[in-house]
Amino acid sequence: MPCYLCAYQSPKRPYSRKALPADSPVPSTYAPLGTCWRCSVLVCSEHAYRYGALECAICQPALATEAALGVPDLPPDGAAMFEVSRKIGERASGEQIARVESVIARLSGEAAGAPSGAGGEAGFSAEASAPPPDLLGDLAGAIRSRIGAEADGRRGRVGFDAIDDEGSFVAGVNAGEEGRPATSALSVDAIGAAVAIAFGGRDLRPIPDAAVAVSGALLMAMSTAEEQVPPLGLEVPARLVEEVPIRAPWEVSHPLLLDPVIWMVSTAYTE
Ligand SMILES: [Zn+2]
Ligand SMILES: [Zn+2]
Repeated sequence: MPCYLCAYQSPKRPYSRKALPADSPVPSTYAPLGTCWRCSVLVCSEHAYRYGALECAICQPALATEAALGVPDLPPDGAAMFEVSRKIGERASGEQIARVESVIARLSGEAAGAPSGAGGEAGFSAEASAPPPDLLGDLAGAIRSRIGAEADGRRGRVGFDAIDDEGSFVAGVNAGEEGRPATSALSVDAIGAAVAIAFGGRDLRPIPDAAVAVSGALLMAMSTAEEQVPPLGLEVPARLVEEVPIRAPWEVSHPLLLDPVIWMVSTAYTE
């Protein structure tokens, strides 16, 4: 039985050293080890973390982000994943961390019922006076408004072509040869619904170092979903961490490998 992440990641992906030890009695570098406690996918040695409960590389940054934002009632694993992301985030650029700080401030404001879009960019669309849709409550609307605003300049990029005209569906796996049909369509509305349920009606109380940890979580998520980025782990040097691009979720090679929580944060980050 193959790992879910292996199934959708590209074979052209840069090599990782997170394989099993050479003398392990399990004779494979990508041996399925168990199921993720959070999303139930089967996960292999390359894509698993275990600091209490086995967790996949899609859920790791999402759980770390929830912990950073102060989502209540998370399992103890949330603290462990926060720490892993914080250590990666310590190698992020100051600019990235500052940007994440403003994302967190916006999300906290939305959760507290403040009007969204305060301090946002005006004049971006014909309806500059209308506030942008709420990221926590209407992520699909926020994504659609972005797609409309950016469409003209971006057509032709890998990934962007895979969004339908209404901005309702995104190809789950975008990378590949030109002309190859997109596979595994993702519904932007379904992703938004998952975020609305996860955050709906909850007060967010970001914990200290939240911006550092969310920066690390975003970088780790990108390293899972972007075809040409090496996997990020605690052993990766700072210079490699700094090279990882943070893209809008519909522009990564494999949008299917981003959790809805990361869709939400990376949409906000790239605005
Ligand atoms: Zn795998
Ligand atoms: Zn998972």
